[in-house]
Amino acid sequence: MTAQEIRKAYIEFFKSKGHTPIARARLVPENDPTTLFTGSGMQPLLPYLLGDSHPDGNRLVDSQTCLRSQDIEEVGDNRHTTFFEMLGNWSLGDYFKNEQINWFFEFITKVVGLDPNRIYVTVYSGDESLGIARDNESESIWRKLFDNLGIDSKTVDIGSEENGYKVGEQSGRIFFYKDKNWWCRAGSAENMPVGEPGGPDTEMFYLYPSVQHNKSYGEHCHPNCDCGRYIELGNSVFMEYKKTEDGFAKLPKQNVDYGGGLERIAAASLDNADVFKISLLLPIIEKLESISGKKYDSHTNDMRVIADHLRGAVFLCVDGITPSNKEQGYVMRRLLRRAIRFAFALGIEQNFLHEIVPIIIDLYSPDFPEVNSSKEKVLEVLLKEEKVFRQTLRKGVRELQKMAEKGSVTGKDIFTLYDTYGFPMELSLEEAQTQDYPINDDWKADFDQQMTEQRNRSQTASKGTFKGGLGGHTLQHKKYHTATHLMYQALRDVLGDHVIQHGSNITEERLRFDFSHPEKMTAEQIKQVEDIVNKQIDNDLTVTFEEHPTKEALEDMHVLGAFGDRYGDKVKIYRMQAQGSEKPFSLEICGGPHVDHTKQLSEEGKKFKIIKEESSSSGIRRIKAVLS
Ligand code: ATP
Ligand code: MG
Repeated sequence: MTAQEIRKAYIEFFKSKGHTPIARARLVPENDPTTLFTGSGMQPLLPYLLGDSHPDGNRLVDSQTCLRSQDIEEVGDNRHTTFFEMLGNWSLGDYFKNEQINWFFEFITKVVGLDPNRIYVTVYSGDESLGIARDNESESIWRKLFDNLGIDSKTVDIGSEENGYKVGEQSGRIFFYKDKNWWCRAGSAENMPVGEPGGPDTEMFYLYPSVQHNKSYGEHCHPNCDCGRYIELGNSVFMEYKKTEDGFAKLPKQNVDYGGGLERIAAASLDNADVFKISLLLPIIEKLESISGKKYDSHTNDMRVIADHLRGAVFLCVDGITPSNKEQGYVMRRLLRRAIRFAFALGIEQNFLHEIVPIIIDLYSPDFPEVNSSKEKVLEVLLKEEKVFRQTLRKGVRELQKMAEKGSVTGKDIFTLYDTYGFPMELSLEEAQTQDYPINDDWKADFDQQMTEQRNRSQTASKGTFKGGLGGHTLQHKKYHTATHLMYQALRDVLGDHVIQHGSNITEERLRFDFSHPEKMTAEQIKQVEDIVNKQIDNDLTVTFEEHPTKEALEDMHVLGAFGDRYGDKVKIYRMQAQGSEKPFSLEICGGPHVDHTKQLSEEGKKFKIIKEESSSSGIRRIKAVLS
């Protein structure tokens, strides 16, 4: 099966089990300041896993596009890409372990046709000191499945990963690990605050017997060894517990969250551990071979990096990001520049994105209409960045010359060229050699030192972002979320109906809101908007939500939405209305969460204040506002 066929078959399979397909969320999360990108299928669904009701019901299925910039250094191996699709199915307080394990096993063995003899699983060993039970239930469900096929299913207790390298596989089939098989937002069960949900997970691995264990990872191989013999295909999280004052208690409503890598499943179906051989990546590799005249087999790493990075950059562009020097735009720029730099190693020194980008667009257009409709924009943005970067490279050559003129080129010089001008180390060296510039003897140690320092700086900077995404559900977030709705309506009342939301971002400290409006707001208009919002806060509007078919909401109810948002068949609408009033003040499509009463926003005598009104881009204004 091709990757595209597997994606389709997965959705169809879970549809047949009563699941509703939902649209992917964009790569850039809305209202979630804790993380730059959507990094898992669960992330956009977190509010629902934590208890909000989902308009499409209790059984959901999708293929979520993900971007993990933290995996950038791993790109080059056979199974990690920065951009990938995560197939996902969810039970929101509906089915649990038995259905989940059976269905996924059925899908992977019967529909995709993977060899069940090569499937190995891990389950949660429990934690005696915390009083959390061993997941015997998942073990016995797996055992039954293997028994039915006459496959030996010996249990092996591994515990920690370090121990795994000591004790090895021992002909096991079902492996018990502790922390590795526990999911919660806090990272570990010990660190969970009271009230937090968490639970065991069970992971499925595919064994590639032809891969030799590499002892540089550890003495013996085991499923969580990173040598590449076992590759993780998917992970089912069972949200089963809640931390309480006196230990772990069962949640009243238990959820299933499954996430599995489409690329890895597609590779397994080809019986090839290399995800770059699948139908969504191979055409890019083949084009690189033809442009460079080099072979993938001898230039594997470089071609993988280029293919991955360009695919990621295309999707970021589809989702509205442009290259810049901060946040998501910076990551996009880094992906593009890295791809162009790695192309040098293949001897591609001329512009080449115009040959690759259309291939990527064609691969995704049939299944993602938004890729097709942003085709021209994507080409324009990416080709422009390529041009800018080549100018930068030329600048780098000039800088290097200046550095050489002051004496000899140092490691720090080479680092500065790399860091500030995006000029690759290899290029600096090559250029220096061609021009006969003297280079300091200790340049490498110096360069490495600078690199380490920079890496430490950026690690500190990214510590706060983690792959689950916290979603921001504190009371302060809710207040700003509610204030955003009030302000959106107030802006329309004061400025007119051309005001449409173009983006929103909320932190504990402020709200930020982008909207269409052709000119600067006057001081008078700002004051009017503030007064309306404060009056509505004072009126103590009740905040409720209801669900409606999307068409009805948009056409008959004139509900507010945001520019460019895609909706499923049904939407959740938040209503803010004064008691006894016939008409709501605000009706807006939104996933929540909000406060229940607007008066909560003025607790401790707080008032709504606009602290900044500025241009965001052409025709778009940006407001920052606070409750203070
Ligand atoms: P790994 O240990 O292999 O990096 P993970 O523990 O980070 O995987 P999860 O966070 O559990 O993976 O994500 C669920 C699934 O998504 C994985 O089972 C895998 O199939 C897929 N996946 C995760 N990271 C990547 C990646 N960088 N590229 C491709 N697929 C991925
Ligand atoms: Mg990982």
